[in-house]
Amino acid sequence: MSNIFKLIESDEFEEVAYGYDKQSGLKAIVAIHDTTLGPAFGGTRMMMFEDEEAALKDCLKLARAMTYKNSAAGINFGGGKAVIIGDADQEKDEALLRAYGRFVDGLAGRFIAGVDVGTDENDMVTVKKETDHVTALPRYYGGAGSTSGATAYGVYKTIERMAERVFGESDLGNKTIGIQGAGSIGWRLAEYLSEEGSKLYISDINEESLKKVEDKGIDFERVAPEKIYDVDMDIFAPCALGGILNDDTIPRLKCELVAGSANNVLKDPELHSKMLEENGIVYGVDFIMSAGGVINNSQQYNEYGYTKEAAYNSVAKIADNMEEVMKIAEEKNITNWEAAYEFAKKRLNMASNLKKWYLTEEKSIKV
Ligand code: NAD
Repeated sequence: MSNIFKLIESDEFEEVAYGYDKQSGLKAIVAIHDTTLGPAFGGTRMMMFEDEEAALKDCLKLARAMTYKNSAAGINFGGGKAVIIGDADQEKDEALLRAYGRFVDGLAGRFIAGVDVGTDENDMVTVKKETDHVTALPRYYGGAGSTSGATAYGVYKTIERMAERVFGESDLGNKTIGIQGAGSIGWRLAEYLSEEGSKLYISDINEESLKKVEDKGIDFERVAPEKIYDVDMDIFAPCALGGILNDDTIPRLKCELVAGSANNVLKDPELHSKMLEENGIVYGVDFIMSAGGVINNSQQYNEYGYTKEAAYNSVAKIADNMEEVMKIAEEKNITNWEAAYEFAKKRLNMASNLKKWYLTEEKSIKV
């Protein structure tokens, strides 16, 4: 692929690294977008891509979003992301994960690897054999555990808060909610909402995911994947992959609120955030809504050590951040997406400014 520098220059990436290991079959990319706030902190996505260019583009897009997600979440980590090209069910084994760990270790702590689609906390135990720059280890190993539980909790608490503004009440019991994707986040969100008594519609392309929700005793109606956009619902919670809100799908939506966990859910954020608004739909900005996982995992690094109670208390504050974003949007007459960027950039600028202060020799730039 030519013009890689042009691609990474356009969004001011600091570094893009490629890791290859012939024996294990590892083909991985780590994109480090911005380390103003601290080491880049992001998940590891393992899946098949159309081609290598698609993998790089996905990695860049996700890494960039992590900079703003981490900044808005109030944690001292920069933005980065890793992708491993391959079928997680067929190709993920100890050799590949350890080779990935050595690749991450070579980045000397500029990137801290977590989990994303196709990887889980048990994989991180294997990665940890080769590097300390890894998060999302299981709780029984003293880690902060999988990000999914905290992400789902953050999405749930933020939907509740947004409902106060959109519907005039936080009670979700009388609301109809469509969930796209019943994976790690989707089923947990469904569980919270079902406890509230919400009427749930769920779509997934994988029968096993839907079966898992049924086995949990959660009451819901199945919807064919391509029909979820047409359901008459109050709230739509996208919890599958990105880019699904676009010119074709937005005009079909009949809801008043879109709020879920899927990263990069708007195909063209600037255009499609405006389109949602013009259609009378309030948008819970993806990189604000889905910060529960990184907030949870960042607690692993606090001076008191990880406790679930403290971590989930911090996760619940995502609702305050989203409220602040809505306030900025109202005051400045801009979209929630634009306001979310302002909110995140403000903290990044503050940190850049602080760096001009000379501290100690140890902390200063070596010449
Ligand atoms: P997952 O892989 O566990 O679940 C995704 C589910 O979506 C799967 O069941 C899959 O079959 C389904 N799916 C895929 N395409 C679909 C389609 N077109 N229609 C309906 N269902 C479809 O992933 P997850 O961890 O639950 O993450 C979901 C989303 O949230 C992703 O975009 C992820 O990047 C984002 N996210 C996850 C976390 C986390 O902590 N896991 C944190 C932040 C953001």
